[in-house]
Amino acid sequence: MNNNSLQTILLIEDDPGDALLIEEMLEQQECKACLVNTERLSEGLDYLRQNHCNMILLDMNLPDSSGLSTITRLLEAAPSLPIIVLTGHSDESFAIEAVKAGAQDYLLKGDIDGRILKRSMFYAVERKKLEIALKQTRDLFERQARIDYLTGIYNRLMFNELLEAELQRARRYNCELSLIMFDLDHFKLVNDTYSHNVGDHVLKEVAQLVSDNIRAHDIFARWGGEEFMVLIPKSDQSHASALSEKLRSICEAHDFGNGLHVTASFGVTQFNSNDNSESLVARTDKALYLAKNNGRNRIESL
Ligand code: GH3
Ligand code: MG
Ligand code: MG
Ligand code: MG
Repeated sequence: MNNNSLQTILLIEDDPGDALLIEEMLEQQECKACLVNTERLSEGLDYLRQNHCNMILLDMNLPDSSGLSTITRLLEAAPSLPIIVLTGHSDESFAIEAVKAGAQDYLLKGDIDGRILKRSMFYAVERKKLEIALKQTRDLFERQARIDYLTGIYNRLMFNELLEAELQRARRYNCELSLIMFDLDHFKLVNDTYSHNVGDHVLKEVAQLVSDNIRAHDIFARWGGEEFMVLIPKSDQSHASALSEKLRSICEAHDFGNGLHVTASFGVTQFNSNDNSESLVARTDKALYLAKNNGRNRIESL
């Protein structure tokens, strides 16, 4: 811990003697921290809800909580705070479990002195920082694996996973399921005429327009360059066609900037009991191909 800024340490400890020892150790180490002592977990949680705090020192045996749930409840309330567990020799294996569950360190009460406590606090802070950074990196990778970087909607990989799940559901519960595939018309011309950046802007705006006009449980994804999918659970082809017409006209009417207008062609189909994901996508693709061949800026169903 940084001794130069005033830190707050929450000590959740019901034994007054143990609490006093900790306080003395911190004083002896000239640790300029404000020590707040609560005897119960519930009081500690209340304190965390209302106050800023930098670290938790936690007795694992409290009047209102014992066991690993103490750690999990604290982590829920304060996911970014380092926790050091204070425990007796007889509970050491338990303390190890607490570290596995998310505490940064444990100290055996009989073995602590000021230096050990100070060192443990320093490492707990550093370890927590690393854990948070690691989690952020992992979250980012997970997001990148399923979200299209340009438009922020699902990518093809995620779409395929969700499509399999929806197909299973449609089969099991005999529900309707429809698929729309749409592709921007003459999009190469947009890039060639206005620049790739403008093309990117159009793609983002199309994604936003469609997201704003579908229902929360519709699954919207970027399939490839300027091709998108909308999977519509519990809906038949006529609903999918009506939605396509709505999206087509919204896109056609939209000013993408400086009077730039872009249209899209749509292929629509409905799941039937012989379909797998490949056949459903292939039929939608074929319908889209028809829409292109029949003049673009239109909808075809198969
Ligand atoms: P069609 O009406 O037949 O679909 O014609 P099109 O020009 O839209 O189709 P084509 O397949 O010839 O061209 C697709 C274009 O989409 C070419 C490619 O550069 C562009 N594109 C694909 N991905 C991106 C992207 O991420 N950003 C931008 N700006 N353009 C992209
Ligand atoms: Mg106790
Ligand atoms: Mg196109
Ligand atoms: Mg295309």
